[in-house]
Amino acid sequence: MYAFFEGKIVKEEDAKISIKTNSFHYGTAVFEGIRAYYNKDEDQLYLLFGKEHYDRLLKNCKILNIKLPYTSDKLVEITLELLRKCNWKQDVYIRPIVYFKDLTISPKLVGYTPEIAIYTIPLGDYIDTSKGVKCIVSSFHRINDNMIPARAKVCGAYVNSAFAKTEALMRGADEAIMLNPNGNVAEGSAENIFIVRDGILITPPPSDNILEGITRKAIIKIAQEDLGIKVIERSINRSELYIADEVFLCGTGAQVSPVIEIDGRKIGDGTPGPITKSIQNFYFDAVRGKIKKYKNSWLVPVYEK
Ligand code: PMP
Repeated sequence: MYAFFEGKIVKEEDAKISIKTNSFHYGTAVFEGIRAYYNKDEDQLYLLFGKEHYDRLLKNCKILNIKLPYTSDKLVEITLELLRKCNWKQDVYIRPIVYFKDLTISPKLVGYTPEIAIYTIPLGDYIDTSKGVKCIVSSFHRINDNMIPARAKVCGAYVNSAFAKTEALMRGADEAIMLNPNGNVAEGSAENIFIVRDGILITPPPSDNILEGITRKAIIKIAQEDLGIKVIERSINRSELYIADEVFLCGTGAQVSPVIEIDGRKIGDGTPGPITKSIQNFYFDAVRGKIKKYKNSWLVPVYEK
């Protein structure tokens, strides 16, 4: 397979960094997770929200004072070229990472040289999307904005996610929901969260220490414009999780994943709820190019026809 490394597409085995690489030691790197979906009937691979992901990556570079010499349009172009070179005919995940390549010690965000690498891998479900997942509320709080900004998708911040996810797995659950330092619901270890109460969709605002998810934004749009579901962005208490009619997690990796249990309490009747299922069905159709309205705005065909 191939990767984009140090300015060009190379064989994946040649895309290697030194053990001295500065960001490898301090986690001072930012990354993205992007999906491309294969449509079998059209024999076409669709890059989903490519521009949106690279716009976010560049904003996150700004937070970390990283001056990357690429535009988001150029990074989309490179990604399309890489996907074509890999000739994928299945659903894939694309992982761009921006890091400081300097072979020196000291954790700082000035005076270093940024580099971007991109690789792609086949990816089906990241977490279950059909039966539903069991969650715990993690004893690890989501990092606060003035510690490491959750919106910035910083590599080092994923130690926080790893603690929470590990706690979930060790307690026999599938995924962790993290509270922010104020005790309100923030997000999953790698997903945003929505709850349904009395037919209304509720999700925490960006100021509650969440990643400003691209899937989250798409789901708000689908709910409001296509399914006629009211959406409210407001803080969510932990106890609301237990009494919600439905809960689901969403993200590029997670897609739309129903939550059927939290801290041993059944959510609704313990099966994926109707609003979750209707959003999920619509989302899955949209990402494979089956919804005309979103085909041209959300997707870019990888292969020329
Ligand atoms: N929160 C966290 C912590 C994540 O890692 C992700 C995955 N990128 C998300 C939310 C979902 O974001 P998106 O929909 O942009 O993938």
